[in-house]
Amino acid sequence: MTNPLLAGWTGPFELPPFAEIRDEDFAPAFEAALTEARANIATIAENPEAPSFANTIEAMELAEGLLDRVAGVFYNLAGADSTPAREALMRDLAPKMAGFASEVTMNRPLFARVAALWEGREGLALTAEQARVLELYYKMFIRSGAALEGEAAARMSAVKERLAVLSTAFSQNLLADERDWFRPLAEEDLEGLPEFVVEAAREAGRERGAEGPVLTLNRSLIVPFLQFSPRRELREIAYEAWTARGANGGPTDNRANAAEILALREERARLLGYPSFAAYKLEPEMAKTPEHVRDLLMRVWAPAKARAEADGEILARMMHADGLNGALEPWDWRYYSEKRRVAEHDFDEAALKPYLSLEAMIGAVFDCAHRLFGLEFRELDGPFYHPDVRGWEVTRNGHHVAVFLGDYFARGSKRSGAWCSALRSQKKLGGETHPIVVNVCNFTKGSPALLSHDDARTLFHEFGHALHQMLSDVTYQFVSGTSVARDFVELPSQLNEHWLDVPEVLEKHARHWQTGEPMPKALRDKLLAAGTYDQGFSTVEYIASALVDLEFHDGAAPADPMAKQAEVLAAIGLPHAIRMRHATPHFSHVFSGDGYSSGYYSYMWSEVMDADAFAAFEETGNPFDPATAKRLEACILSKGGSRPADEEWLDFRGKMPGVEALLKGRGLLDAA
Ligand SMILES: [Zn+2]
Repeated sequence: MTNPLLAGWTGPFELPPFAEIRDEDFAPAFEAALTEARANIATIAENPEAPSFANTIEAMELAEGLLDRVAGVFYNLAGADSTPAREALMRDLAPKMAGFASEVTMNRPLFARVAALWEGREGLALTAEQARVLELYYKMFIRSGAALEGEAAARMSAVKERLAVLSTAFSQNLLADERDWFRPLAEEDLEGLPEFVVEAAREAGRERGAEGPVLTLNRSLIVPFLQFSPRRELREIAYEAWTARGANGGPTDNRANAAEILALREERARLLGYPSFAAYKLEPEMAKTPEHVRDLLMRVWAPAKARAEADGEILARMMHADGLNGALEPWDWRYYSEKRRVAEHDFDEAALKPYLSLEAMIGAVFDCAHRLFGLEFRELDGPFYHPDVRGWEVTRNGHHVAVFLGDYFARGSKRSGAWCSALRSQKKLGGETHPIVVNVCNFTKGSPALLSHDDARTLFHEFGHALHQMLSDVTYQFVSGTSVARDFVELPSQLNEHWLDVPEVLEKHARHWQTGEPMPKALRDKLLAAGTYDQGFSTVEYIASALVDLEFHDGAAPADPMAKQAEVLAAIGLPHAIRMRHATPHFSHVFSGDGYSSGYYSYMWSEVMDADAFAAFEETGNPFDPATAKRLEACILSKGGSRPADEEWLDFRGKMPGVEALLKGRGLLDAA
């Protein structure tokens, strides 16, 4: 019997034949695909002809076609519908895939061909997109150390290996600390806690074999506990335990790991000729330099701190009115902030939900995409990879654009969170290829399924990533869709969130699922006002973390990261009652891998862009302004990574954004 993953996919839209694929097909399919990719890479590297763009770069673009196809199906399934067999295969594949990637970048004859093309690029008569793709390939080789020789090359491998060991240890220590700490709660300790918190504490107790409810360090339990528990001494114990993760001494302490990781990263950057790890890491990003990142963070810092200090005074007065003296402490903030929120902004989430049915919100997000970009959606008959998954053909002016799959409901086999992935990316090389894009969410099932406002925002967010994939119009997969700088990739998604809160969108789509009535205006106003609540606090705790991350990697690595952290926070004057969102010993964005190292600022960078991009629509007086939408698609959404992010942005907007739109969006403008 032939392996359906390896056969040609001839069904409608060349979708993977989901119904025919069995788990045991994946391992042999990966073997075959890796063998084929290896053979293709060897053929390119050993080609006796002089290197050309076509026989080297384009050939590499096509070398892993089968591997991409098998991996696209597998990794989506492994995340969205995992089984023990799929998990085992994922563990098995991790070193194989990493090994193959490093084989490619460490292939000397292959690198020599790419380097020769790069040196002679002026004479190649390349299109702008080809020139960009060549540059990205060349830099990928250089940045992974392909040009190093002898001792430097050996040292680079040793540094990378050690970093992989240390970052795994960092994650595992953190997991151990989070798993091991819990505190039994007596009946009187449950005072003031809403039913859902009590339930979660009882469930946590059952999981740990305790007699009754327990408090754990799980964010979804400890944050509401800090919000609702009136027992100050318990809040203090809980908060201190939560923020001590990774810094408890003994075998799970992460402080020495952090120091060694920082030192090795600096060494790695210096081996490649960069003055610091931040300089190395930021080079391909839109921000480009540590100075640009610092400048952004500090411009937002001042108004955020001013707002947080003013809010802190109000909360301290509330605490004093409770008969407690002294300063507001970090374990008091969430408790008094929640009381204030109820007093000033409360609305009943339960009253909101009937207006936000999943069906209505899918209608809203499709309608916005239609009004902005002319896209049309026709639901397809499944089945897809799970009975809950729905699919649509996306067309424009009668032409096929993409297939969009929506996998919206939580289930035990799905990892948490929400994401967008492409089972197939858009490209033109080797024949026009239309994308297959999936949005995966974790909404609660119901009849009908009703969303919270946060859920609806997630739906719009992930669909923004999907638009970036579906509207992609490039030749090379290397720069397709969301293959852009990390500090640019959240722009389309965060921008798309803005349309959810456009009053006419709510008016048209946020209708009661039974009566069809629009959401009452008072409820809508409260909903929109609540969006900026306590943003001084959130912004301050975020920037504190982003700045420490940046200073860790800019310049010489600190021998004592905890002392460096204290120094950075003292210099900006972090308010007493607020601490870093993630302190160093549990800052996994930065230490459990390289992804967000000297990159934690990216969230705010993207927010500056999305706020200013939406302002471009608002300035026309029409949130669906056709000319602005057309420019957004032409300059950004269709271009993927085929141009540097700052050039795409300047084409769209004409100037780099200030922080005003972000401050306005966070309600911090009058604190500036
Ligand atoms: Zn996102």
